[in-house]
Amino acid sequence: MDKPKSRFIRVRCKDCENEQIIFDRASTIVSCHICGSKLAIPRGGKAEIRGEILEVVE
Ligand SMILES: [Zn+2]
Repeated sequence: MDKPKSRFIRVRCKDCENEQIIFDRASTIVSCHICGSKLAIPRGGKAEIRGEILEVVE
């Protein structure tokens, strides 16, 4: 059985420029550790990423 491929991505918060690694299929809202701004919002599969995507961490 194949599992759907998921990734971690490094994003930069638009509000405070904190960089954080998050899961691209987050099932809950991911908030910035520093300012609490939303970085990812679950969309029933891939999450909607709100910050600036810097790189994909394979
Ligand atoms: Zn922030």
